[in-house]
Amino acid sequence: MASGKVRHIKELKKNRSWLFVVIYTVISLAAIAAIGFFVYYMTDYMAKSELKAEYDAIKYMASIYETPEDEELLIKSGRDYILTDNGGEVISQNGEDTCSDKGSVLTMPSTGEQVTVYTDEKNGFLQVDRAGKIGVDFKGIFQRFEERGSEDELENLEIFTDTFGLDKTDIRIADFGRKLNINLESVLRLPLWMSAETESGGNVLTAKAYCSVSMLNAVKYLLFCLVITLLALLIFCFALGNILKGFRNQRRTMKVFFEDVVTRGHNWMWFLARGDHMLKTSSAMKETFAVISFSFVKYTNYCLCHSMEEGDRLLKRIHDTISLYLERKELIARSPSPSDFALILKFSDVNALRMRIDTIIHELEKIDGDHIFTFQAGVDVINAAREARERSDRRKLDLEREYNNACAARASLSDKDATGMAFFDSKLMEEQIWEDKVRERQRTALEKEEFVVYYQPKYDPSTDKLKGAEALVRWKSPEFGLVPPGRFIPIFEKNGFITEIDHYMLAHVARDQMKWLREGKECVPVSVNVSRAHFVESGLAEQIKDIVDSEGTPRKLIEIELTESAFFDDKKALVNTISKLREYGFTVSMDDFGSGYSSLNSLKDMPLDVLKLDADFFRGEDNDERGRIVVTETIRLAKSLNMKTVAEGVEDKKQVEFLAKQGCDMIQGFVYDKPMPADEFEQKMQS
Ligand code: C2E
Ligand code: MG
Ligand code: MG
Repeated sequence: MASGKVRHIKELKKNRSWLFVVIYTVISLAAIAAIGFFVYYMTDYMAKSELKAEYDAIKYMASIYETPEDEELLIKSGRDYILTDNGGEVISQNGEDTCSDKGSVLTMPSTGEQVTVYTDEKNGFLQVDRAGKIGVDFKGIFQRFEERGSEDELENLEIFTDTFGLDKTDIRIADFGRKLNINLESVLRLPLWMSAETESGGNVLTAKAYCSVSMLNAVKYLLFCLVITLLALLIFCFALGNILKGFRNQRRTMKVFFEDVVTRGHNWMWFLARGDHMLKTSSAMKETFAVISFSFVKYTNYCLCHSMEEGDRLLKRIHDTISLYLERKELIARSPSPSDFALILKFSDVNALRMRIDTIIHELEKIDGDHIFTFQAGVDVINAAREARERSDRRKLDLEREYNNACAARASLSDKDATGMAFFDSKLMEEQIWEDKVRERQRTALEKEEFVVYYQPKYDPSTDKLKGAEALVRWKSPEFGLVPPGRFIPIFEKNGFITEIDHYMLAHVARDQMKWLREGKECVPVSVNVSRAHFVESGLAEQIKDIVDSEGTPRKLIEIELTESAFFDDKKALVNTISKLREYGFTVSMDDFGSGYSSLNSLKDMPLDVLKLDADFFRGEDNDERGRIVVTETIRLAKSLNMKTVAEGVEDKKQVEFLAKQGCDMIQGFVYDKPMPADEFEQKMQS
């Protein structure tokens, strides 16, 4: 039942923003990685292009070396170099040897030549990886700037320019620790060593080469990388901001969705979602829970006496007070019925639970100094582990149903209308099961005409002559046997099926009456019960008229009994329907007068024909003088209002005599007959 709702809520709660976070992060990281690769390849390409000319020069140097005498020429070139034989022994060298031992192979762009290169040990800013890709060690460059850039040393331009192979006039250094003033027309020369074989003798010439990058290009390049990286970061931050906003909005929506406007606590939707989750977790398997329906009994009265605002304020205080008694992982929410609260408490000992609820109730009773309030609690105990075993799947545990059980337990208290608590037990459970069975079978039973009409005759007490009858429904169920109306009518009144039963009964009674008329029998008016629950429907009088007319039955042979129901009481609509029915020629009676909701006041407003005195008048002591006075005066009152009286539930002959003397028009009771099937009643009519 609730699982659908719970699923719906979970769907709503599902936080899809996480998915977006992941997607955006992946995309942003991929973009940053792509920029990294782009920069890396560009650096490689630029460096190789620059080195191409240097390599050509070194290759040329190697090609002109044939004999040691030729070295003069090499020295004149001014380049640092090392000449080695094919065994790796140094033959000669010029300048400072800062060439590292480990070499890598580079492929020159356009020519595709394979060149062995070595990092400069002193200034290893150009690095070559195993795959022959050149990278610039910017970190190293900046570090070296810092190392060399201390106040004193900065004065010494030479050190700096030496380090970077820069022209002294091209660079101007002010406060180097903080800020760089670089002449954009200067050139940054990054050293690297390159090898080429000499043409004769297979010697190897390894010479120092410079990858020269103009400052302008370097700055442009750096700026370009910086802008792209910033752009990627900006997109990432923007996306992240949006996602966070989404999170916040979702949290706000959830708050609106789950907040109870009166108590500022949680509402029923939250209770279902949270409670359902709580009861189904594996840790719940070790616990016992109590689902409680907690009701402020005279809330409506309180609102009437004070105001709705006062009522709301009181509800908030009740909510806050109960909350004080809750422990971690226990829930409270306002239930769909305005003055009720739904609770889930954890407990291990039933007596302790009783005491806890009792304490809460007593605390609430005196929540307002001026009044003593009434609170009732219905408790349904859930042992999650046992439920899981019994239901074979703990996911089937239905919180809404459990709460209904708690409500059913609470409803069992309502007659006494006093503070208290009731536990949902096996008897209530049986009732619940029965209610489910009735609800499941009601329509099929109607279609199969399992509902049958019983007639209980009404007699004139002074002549003992048959004057009328009441049609009473029975359910002849192949499964349950003959079921009395008390077992299913209240259920139908609750679930609305009563309308169909009443129409069904009316049609059957009208049909029976018509049949008897055709057979030439002396028919008496038969009253049919119509639940007050649908007496307020606007088209009811027309419907009754149409049903009776469709059978062709004279309307005067049908009486409509307005039965007891606590569900609706729209007096204006009632009076309207009664008046119409009487206009159409039906007799209208009030059932069970003197009990429950039927009051003297209703006699004032309702234009009724018959008053049926409730059976309760005739229960109790034989010589109950006060009872007799009430009956006598009620009959007199009815007569003054031009109403006939029917005494119901009379079982005693002496009461018949008494009623006859008081002028009661009819008696319907076991003293004459019990309700009987149609054929039996037919014989009664004949005799
Ligand atoms: P009701 O309309 O007040 O019907 C009178 C009830 O009192 C009947 O119970 C009847 O059997 C019982 N009764 C009559 N005389 C005596 C007596 O001397 N002693 C005792 N102990 N009981 C007596 P029943 O048939 O069980 O019906 C119970 C109630 O179910 C009815 O009370 C009526 O409210 C409702 N009901 C029955 N049929 C229908 C129906 O077709 N539609 C509606 N809406 N309600 C129905
Ligand atoms: Mg009745
Ligand atoms: Mg009655």
